[in-house]
Amino acid sequence: MPNFETVTVETDLLIIGGGMSACGAAFEAAYWAKKNGLKVTVVDKAAMDRSGAVAMGLSAINQYIGWAAGDNTLEDYVKYVRQDLMGVSREDLVYDIARHVDSSVHLFEKWGLPIWTDANGKYVHEGRWQVMINGESYKVLVAEAAKTALAEMGGNGELFERVFIVEPIMDGDRVAGALGFSVRENKFYVFKAKATIACMGGAVHVFRPRSVGEGLGRAWYPPWNSGSTAYFTIKAGAEMTCQEVRFIPVRFKDGYGPVGAWFLLFKARATNAMGEEYMVTRAGELPKWAPYGMAKPIPANLRNWLGMEDVMAGKGPIYMRTNEAIANIAAQYKDDPKAFKKKMKELESEAWEDFLDMTISQSLLWAGMNIQPEETPSEIAAAEPYFIGSHSGASGAWVCGPEDVMPAEYKKQWDSIGVYNHMCTVKGLFSAGRAFSPLETASAHRAISSPPALTLKVVLQPRAQSHSSLTTTPCLKLTWRQSRR
Ligand SMILES: Cc1cc2nc3c(=O)[nH]c(=O)nc-3n(C[C@H](O)[C@H](O)[C@H](O)COP(=O)(O)OP(=O)(O)OC[C@H]3O[C@@H](n4cnc5c(N)ncnc54)[C@H](O)[C@@H]3O)c2cc1C
Repeated sequence: MPNFETVTVETDLLIIGGGMSACGAAFEAAYWAKKNGLKVTVVDKAAMDRSGAVAMGLSAINQYIGWAAGDNTLEDYVKYVRQDLMGVSREDLVYDIARHVDSSVHLFEKWGLPIWTDANGKYVHEGRWQVMINGESYKVLVAEAAKTALAEMGGNGELFERVFIVEPIMDGDRVAGALGFSVRENKFYVFKAKATIACMGGAVHVFRPRSVGEGLGRAWYPPWNSGSTAYFTIKAGAEMTCQEVRFIPVRFKDGYGPVGAWFLLFKARATNAMGEEYMVTRAGELPKWAPYGMAKPIPANLRNWLGMEDVMAGKGPIYMRTNEAIANIAAQYKDDPKAFKKKMKELESEAWEDFLDMTISQSLLWAGMNIQPEETPSEIAAAEPYFIGSHSGASGAWVCGPEDVMPAEYKKQWDSIGVYNHMCTVKGLFSAGRAFSPLETASAHRAISSPPALTLKVVLQPRAQSHSSLTTTPCLKLTWRQSRR
């Protein structure tokens, strides 16, 4: 390669990625590093202000316990995840994240994130675990906090943007940094580090997207989440788990708008083309998936499965009854025309804002198709599969849990290399965020994915019992089978 300069950077902690988890890791690491005179280096292939899956913003934070207010306990949350993931969950890691997550949400608010509140000043919940936000600038706010924390470290805090990491550097059995190149300049980078955190997001486009024609390549998850973390950890020799699990979310068709606010906040029903509600007509399927199919809330993958059965039986398409949901909410104001009009306006703007905050393409599709959600239902459909360690995609690296709650059976694996929370099975390599965190579930995709506080929201991997016997069956069946072993 002619004219390529090689730049060598030596650091103590290398954080790869600039998304939500990397920002969280940088913010937290800066605090400890400053106290101990250590250097922290962050490398993002894009520009941190708008990089990663939250680039467009979000309209909800999908995990909030409300512990201080006594709304829920940590145990409630662990139980919820166990139910929603049908038994396949690393409860030590779920618990660990749950005990830190509220303080992270409070930090977001302190940094300027508008969280919806009700007349009593309490957070407005989308569902039990989610809080609603005006999140168009969510990522900008979190990036600003990370950048400020790095800047306050003086020469010991560094951010490299537009540098694409391609390989781990190995020193025997230990990760000793990473190699990358600038996507703007003729520069090749060698980052030498004592510890490395891989935070490069999930993997999209491993499978062909369901969108075709002009839409080909569109996906629900951002196409720039190209699987770098999975590659990095696999290349380093880290034990991976649940590699057979794919996450197939149900989304608004074509625009890929998330369905959470419609199901949880607006309490919309989904019906098939005949107007039948598959959750009712196919309820007989649920006992087959006991005990999870028999308990509430019904796991998201089972709910999706019932809808898919309708489609496979030729009863599709499936519609989200947005018009009916809005009408139901507004009905309580029917006797007061002024209040009714005001409520309808409010609901209309909430409906649009949900997508304008998060999946702008869905709003464009609605506008382009002249769809008014208060008048017309919209089609929803199962998307293509993704490898992401959350939203109930549990594929990722197997990591160490917190010493105080990790079961002894798991701890054994790290005794010889060091018991460090969130360390992979390779020395010096940690992982955070989407690429690995399987605590999240399809329904509540509580992707606060990367609370800044020490939560580095890392890798909650349910342990695969056998990697080889499970191949490409849909996630829902795999989850079930694993949990029955
Ligand atoms: C449409 C949509 C809606 C969502 N809705 C919600 C919601 O309502 N509530 C919620 O809580 N969560 C939601 N999520 C999930 C949330 O966005 C993710 O959980 C979160 O962003 C994951 O953080 P992360 O740090 O793991 O990855 P990301 O935020 O995706 O960050 C990955 C980072 O790695 C960088 N990178 C990638 N490859 C490389 C490389 N090779 N070298 C260097 N850098 C690299 C990227 O530039 C980026 O900075 C939603 C996601 C999407 C896509």
